[in-house]
Amino acid sequence: MKDNTKSSIRVRIAPSPTGTPHIGNTRTALLNYLFAKHNNGAFILRIEDTDQARIVEGAVEAIEEILNWLGLVPDERYVQSQRLDLYKEKADELVQKGLTKKENGAVRFIIPNNRTLEWTDAVGNKKISFHSNDVEDFIILKSDGFPTYHLASVVDDNDTNISHVFRGEEWISSTPKHLLLYQAFGWIPPVFVHLPVIVGPDKQKLSKRHGAKSVLDYRDEGYLKEALLNFMVLLGWNPGGDREIMSMEEMIQLFDLKDINSSSPVFDAKKLEWMNGVYIREAQISNLKSQILAQNLKLTEISDAQLEKIIPIAQTRMKTLKEFNELVMPFFEQVEIKLDDKEKEVAHTLVQSLANVEVWNNEAILVVLKQIMQGEKLRMPILYKILTGKESGLPISDMLEIVGKEKTLEKLIRST
Ligand code: GLU
Repeated sequence: MKDNTKSSIRVRIAPSPTGTPHIGNTRTALLNYLFAKHNNGAFILRIEDTDQARIVEGAVEAIEEILNWLGLVPDERYVQSQRLDLYKEKADELVQKGLTKKENGAVRFIIPNNRTLEWTDAVGNKKISFHSNDVEDFIILKSDGFPTYHLASVVDDNDTNISHVFRGEEWISSTPKHLLLYQAFGWIPPVFVHLPVIVGPDKQKLSKRHGAKSVLDYRDEGYLKEALLNFMVLLGWNPGGDREIMSMEEMIQLFDLKDINSSSPVFDAKKLEWMNGVYIREAQISNLKSQILAQNLKLTEISDAQLEKIIPIAQTRMKTLKEFNELVMPFFEQVEIKLDDKEKEVAHTLVQSLANVEVWNNEAILVVLKQIMQGEKLRMPILYKILTGKESGLPISDMLEIVGKEKTLEKLIRST
């Protein structure tokens, strides 16, 4: 560990409430959380709302909602706009020391000449160095009495004993300013952990263009939180080897700063989808059931007992929970199915034959379907279409058994 590491591990995420968290800042939250939990430290949420003009209504709630959903629950939380007195006091301290100039009610910090500003970044353990002559004087307190990001961030990181600052590498150019503030106050800076930005397949900074969505959108589209966490962690860190699938407990256990990637990870939407499929296949039925119901799908016609039988059948065929609807509703929903004359004839035969099935189960249903296919020289997609409106999907006899005889016949008669 470096000399300036404080004894106990305390980290923070410092989102500005300017929108819904995306994959990038949620990944930062996850890495902070893992580092804190691995070290029995504290994970702190600080809302950076000092730029009042950029605040978006509902953004704080969205941040909390995402952290709660993912289980990244902060140990402490606070809001910068409730601490204005502290920033004012600290700005005054720098004024007293003669390190600032006042212009139109704003306080600007004067950069000293000929200083080298450097730190060893924990990412890749590399030395990053700036010359103070290349840094411009900067405002620390605005005329509206609010601090700027630079002042508030340094004052808070010090005041709350933050040991490691994890943030995106786009903040590297702010760090020399922060180091100067630490020097001016006589404080020890934390360890900096600047995470490489996530890029799209074209190597440009990740954005909506690349199919990246807000984390709430992923949730609403039926991604499991376990899959999203696992996917996100690999965008910043991996424990080495080929290991990819990890539970939260394993990530906490294995997490090590030295394994943070030092090059930009590429966001791959297909990989996320694949990983979600892996997690869906491994998930407990009860867990999937509650998440499927929480998706607010139109499952009203399906009983609890039916759901519990359908989920294991659908489980191996879904990449997102949203697909559950598309796979299952054709068996329940009444839709008009366009059939030609020959198909209509088959539909009538089907009604008669299925009506004669006494013990309504998978095997008996399959016998009837096979007889009709042979007798009428038909292939399964035609029967599938007559029964569901689609040509393929979940195993038909398993599904019809669950749907039940009465409902199957009723639907068949009405739709043909
Ligand atoms: N408010 C900044 C952000 O939105 C925080 C940067 C930092 O972690 O210092 O990313």
